[in-house]
Amino acid sequence: MQARSWRAACERSATALARDPQDITFALLYVIEPGQDVAELAARVGLDPGSAGPGDRIALDAAGPWPIGSVARSHTVSVVENLEAAGLGGVAGIWNRPSERAVLLPVPASSDTGRGGVLIVGLNPYRLFDADYSAFLSLVVGQISAAIASADPYEEERRRAEALAELDRAKTAFFSNVSHEFRTPLTLMLGPLEEVLASDTAGAAMRAQVELAHRNGTRLLRLVNSLLDFSRIEAGRVRAAFEPVDLGAITAEIASSFRSAVERAGLDLDVRCQPLPLPSYVDREMWEKIVINLLSNAFKFTLSGGIRVTTEPAADGRSARVSVADTGIGIPAGEIPRLFERFYRVEGAQGRSFEGSGIGLALVAELVRLHGGEIAVKSKIGRGTTFTVVLPLGRAHLPAARVRARTDAAATGMRAHEYLDEALRWLPEATPMETAGALSTAGLGAIAPNGAFRAGAGKAVLLADDNADMRGYVARLLEGQGYRVTAVGDGAEACAAAIAAPPDLILTDVMMPKLDGFGLLRAVRQEPRTAGIPVIMLSPHAPARRPRSRDSMRGPTITS
Ligand code: ADP
Repeated sequence: MQARSWRAACERSATALARDPQDITFALLYVIEPGQDVAELAARVGLDPGSAGPGDRIALDAAGPWPIGSVARSHTVSVVENLEAAGLGGVAGIWNRPSERAVLLPVPASSDTGRGGVLIVGLNPYRLFDADYSAFLSLVVGQISAAIASADPYEEERRRAEALAELDRAKTAFFSNVSHEFRTPLTLMLGPLEEVLASDTAGAAMRAQVELAHRNGTRLLRLVNSLLDFSRIEAGRVRAAFEPVDLGAITAEIASSFRSAVERAGLDLDVRCQPLPLPSYVDREMWEKIVINLLSNAFKFTLSGGIRVTTEPAADGRSARVSVADTGIGIPAGEIPRLFERFYRVEGAQGRSFEGSGIGLALVAELVRLHGGEIAVKSKIGRGTTFTVVLPLGRAHLPAARVRARTDAAATGMRAHEYLDEALRWLPEATPMETAGALSTAGLGAIAPNGAFRAGAGKAVLLADDNADMRGYVARLLEGQGYRVTAVGDGAEACAAAIAAPPDLILTDVMMPKLDGFGLLRAVRQEPRTAGIPVIMLSPHAPARRPRSRDSMRGPTITS
């Protein structure tokens, strides 16, 4: 077995040396770090505890009996006569006569770390220090050197793991600070917007604008809150309050708040909640986040069929199984191991929307863990996905200080509402078109390439964007400038619409479900009826795939 650190490797070497007391009456193993002018005693054999011990350091060129510095630098063996004078005269080991001489052997430095050393061995008083004896000790030194070197990768790995953990802590602290910074201004912005919406003073147009700002502010706040929840959990600062609940009833209640959205999307929602043999103890708010996140993912990634929410006793009778199953797009098997990682998203997943941050499932997994439960996922591409949470019943597994009596709080609060508002935006044309932005000042003619598109009232623009707000915003803007706009939610729809009725211009988002902006561009170029139509792409990112734009704001970035 390999030793995990070089110190442990030295100690193991010493144990091996002690097995040969005839030829090694005593031994001292000094280790020298590269560039250092001190040696550290790493192991000791056959000497009484009163003498120098592991951890003791001596300067390489210190005056004294041991020429450690010169042996280490010259890589040559050195014999010290007259141990009496060195203060080690009485060490006899198994012999009836003490060693008179000791030999200092250089321990070759490891090529990776440069860590080397010197082994001092008290010689057998009855044996000549001949070639055989010397060869034996060379072998011993070779073994020690190899043991120290092979311990290094472990050290390196441990250091790397520590550095990563430190980075993770820094990241968590950063998220937590920045989330706080975002939360306050967002809350202060949402308050006045809510007041405007609650009063009857705004006209219809103004109201639409304020609703748009409010909806997107809320979305941002929800994301910030998830980040904050996550970093609090990671930092161990979360205070769960577990209370006895009827898990089936509260889960059904949360699920039913999704019913109208699910049914509007033409999906079935099947909620089956069986009674459980014991009460479940959950933190209501956290449980709500768990169920809502799973449901909102199921909704997002299921385009036909339905969603089933089940609560039942597990086979052992001591835990509850809660599952959210969908008949959606499924998750590739290779992606499943990383699904619960922070910010992990499945590349190219074709859901109802491309929106998402990859924080949802990571948060769900942490919240389930806080409840002493486990989460698992089963999925088949094209058939659907089932997330199952197994939660121990009763309270024995929870810290007593965190358990409280039942409260009468309503199971579903603001949260479901926030998620639902967002989910509804993934449905086609859920709201009237809204307005404002970069295009208003530039105008389409100005951003199309080389006069490829002559702006003018009555021209037909095909607009593709999966975000309903953004689609509404751009469409209304263009309609205000006299364009005839056909707005669609993804690249595939855009492609079909362009072929059916070729527009004068295609304006498309880059990231979209089903077919992205680049796919759309390829498709229209291949089709003779649409090959000549100018295409303008809008992107929220600095483009990763085609380095033609310097914009980092959403705006027209690529034209073709
Ligand atoms: P987000 O939805 O914000 O991207 P999540 O952490 O909730 O982040 O989910 C991570 C990824 O897991 C999603 O991007 C999606 O690709 C995949 N995923 C989650 N739930 C489902 C589901 N029910 N069906 C298919 N894919 C899913």
